[in-house]
Amino acid sequence: MGLECMNCQKDVSPTDAKFFMNSAFCCPTCFLMAERLHDRIKRTLNALLLMSDEKIRVDLIEGKLNFQMDPDQEIPKDVVLKAIVQLQEMEHDRRNRIDARDSKDQSQGPRASSKGVRLLGSGGGGSEQP
Ligand SMILES: [Zn+2]
Repeated sequence: MGLECMNCQKDVSPTDAKFFMNSAFCCPTCFLMAERLHDRIKRTLNALLLMSDEKIRVDLIEGKLNFQMDPDQEIPKDVVLKAIVQLQEMEHDRRNRIDARDSKDQSQGPRASSKGVRLLGSGGGGSEQP
């Protein structure tokens, strides 16, 4: 009886056997899948961390960093979640801008261009005050 991949139940020869996180026994295909997902999540989280630092920096400069804080306690979860949601929206907008830019080359329909203009409008200026 051969060894089976825990994920896809395919037979795995001892030379091909892989362990994800030293405990999940899997075939090379499932291992690669798990590794690639791990790498993707890691990159996404790193990007979020960089963006959050930048957001905190800009918020400080613009005098917008403000929430109820008890110095003796952890920052409340809802503040953290709200910040993450804002970052995801920023990331979403950024992607839409990139998509709009990319699709401009392929389809020059009025829908694509008006979307791009709207997004550019929402992204720039606006909040600047003398
Ligand atoms: Zn497998």
